[in-house]
Amino acid sequence: MPNKQLPSKPCVVCGRPFSWRKKWERDWENVKYCSKKCAAEGARQARAEKRKI
Ligand SMILES: [Zn+2]
Repeated sequence: MPNKQLPSKPCVVCGRPFSWRKKWERDWENVKYCSKKCAAEGARQARAEKRKI
């Protein structure tokens, strides 16, 4: 059995770790959310605190 370990990182919204997915292979660096639901929540938070950058 090959020892291939997929990367994972915590969702910035819910804090749960989520694993690399094929659909993110080109965009993994930019993926912050585990789900669309969290992405929507994250976008809302980002709008609320609009002081980065
Ligand atoms: Zn999440």
